[in-house]
Amino acid sequence: MAGLQRLKYHAMEDSEAPASAQPAAHFRGDGESPAAIPEHFPSDEAAARFFMARLLRRDERPTMRSAAAEEETVPGMVLSSERELPGTRTSLLHFDQTSGTIPVFGGEAVVELAPGRALVSADLRVGAAPDAGTSPTLDAAEAVAAVAHAAGLSVTAGDVPPPTLAWLHKDETDAWRLAWHVRDVPGLPPEARTETGHGLGDSFRTRHTLAEYLVDAHNGAILFYFSTAPTAAIPVKCAGVDEDDAAVEFYGARVDTDGGSAFELFDPLRRVRTFDLGLGEIESAQVPAAAVNHTKGVFGAEHRAAVTAHRNGALVQDFYKSVLQRNGIDDRGMELVSVINCTSPRDREPPEWANACWWKGRMWYGQVSRGGRLVSLAQHLVVIAHEITHGVIETSSNLVYREQSGALNESFADVMGVIIANWWRAPDRDDPSTWDWRIGTGLGRSGNPLRDFADPGSVGYPAHMDHYMVTFADLGGVHINSNIHNKAIHHLLTAVGPGGERVLSVEDVALLAYLTLLHLTRLATFAEARENMIDVARVYFSADPDRVSEVVAAVAAAYDAVGITGR
Ligand SMILES: [Zn+2]
Repeated sequence: MAGLQRLKYHAMEDSEAPASAQPAAHFRGDGESPAAIPEHFPSDEAAARFFMARLLRRDERPTMRSAAAEEETVPGMVLSSERELPGTRTSLLHFDQTSGTIPVFGGEAVVELAPGRALVSADLRVGAAPDAGTSPTLDAAEAVAAVAHAAGLSVTAGDVPPPTLAWLHKDETDAWRLAWHVRDVPGLPPEARTETGHGLGDSFRTRHTLAEYLVDAHNGAILFYFSTAPTAAIPVKCAGVDEDDAAVEFYGARVDTDGGSAFELFDPLRRVRTFDLGLGEIESAQVPAAAVNHTKGVFGAEHRAAVTAHRNGALVQDFYKSVLQRNGIDDRGMELVSVINCTSPRDREPPEWANACWWKGRMWYGQVSRGGRLVSLAQHLVVIAHEITHGVIETSSNLVYREQSGALNESFADVMGVIIANWWRAPDRDDPSTWDWRIGTGLGRSGNPLRDFADPGSVGYPAHMDHYMVTFADLGGVHINSNIHNKAIHHLLTAVGPGGERVLSVEDVALLAYLTLLHLTRLATFAEARENMIDVARVYFSADPDRVSEVVAAVAAAYDAVGITGR
């Protein structure tokens, strides 16, 4: 007897799929492909059901064939959600599998459809659960009592939502078991309760875990359990004052303390956590175990630096997630950890340290004296976005930090820094003529910015390959020659067509730059960046050939203008 089995399909791997299912392919189906569309469907659900049935019937495995039944509609699959994806404009439909009326635990299907309802992809995990023996020996209350006994909890049936029946496949015994599915149980069994290891005892999260249990409906044995932790951490809306004296809102979490509860700078949704090094040395001081916290959710002006770093970090995370569809710095949900109040006596006499950097997978911030107090560098959103982008680069193309590849590393950090800062701060984020192009205002020599994206020459940097600096300093001029590539992207952001209209939206430039970055190899050159951006543009705009030539011309012109020419 087999348990759950998987079936995966993608139109891009199917040479017979119709072109409408393939973003950039030129195949025309002959009707044999699973993605071929035989008729007009009344709904996305009807189309998804048709394709699921076809895929299951084509499969040799008995489990798959039995899940398809004899019908075209796959009656065992129940639609649970449906959403349109940003970026690809495809629809994603989730189905849960049932046998008769009883859900099959873990049995589900995810079906993706193109705008014309052609099949793009399908991922099914289904099992051939029995359709007989659906009467439980224990009732729901007895199942909850079995959980309470096994977990050592005082929970009763009145404390949890009504349990439901489910089929569960036990791989150890290769048998289907009828189970009661008990949800929202306030605790895991003793063997699953682990200490967190930092000596503070049970963490808030461990103590407040909600768990789900599957209990054998005939003998009360605990068959399976798991934590529902992802929904247990609920963000709390907090407020405070930032380094610019602005009242800002941000998200934290409520934590238990000895004296009651507090609010800490941990945003569980955006995965941003902020610590205070207390002016300790960046290289040697121990980062505290707990994030910055305050007895009230209104932080006031006491934690300006922490509030600023926390909120600006969240803005960068939000941009990467919503505009570039990147899931955190490493695209795998990595937490953004910020550490404020850092010093480095070798660079500057404490308590000042005029720096902010991405180092050892964290953001570290120094501070400078101004107006009689220390002001954190976390106030420069453009600098933060620049530094966090170094983290993105480190976990993607990982451009070697020397000469041209190093200058590209610096430039892409500036590109994202300038775009992200203006996305949140410019008078009109969609109109670059309203943007502030300066990077690190006031942090350069004699009050100048560190760099100027639109006018590198104003702070003494080259803006054309004619002035490319060959040097051993600055690792081959990574902060110098980067300005040439910056200027190319500035040309692209502001490029206009014959009628004066901008060729590319800000989102398009951001996405082109980001996708180019992902495609680069570690030792990429300026010319390779140009070449990759043109390749990326060809795919990205492939739905419209006129648009492709227009955009490719704009990219080529932007690079030509700074002397980065094609090969
Ligand atoms: Zn940098």
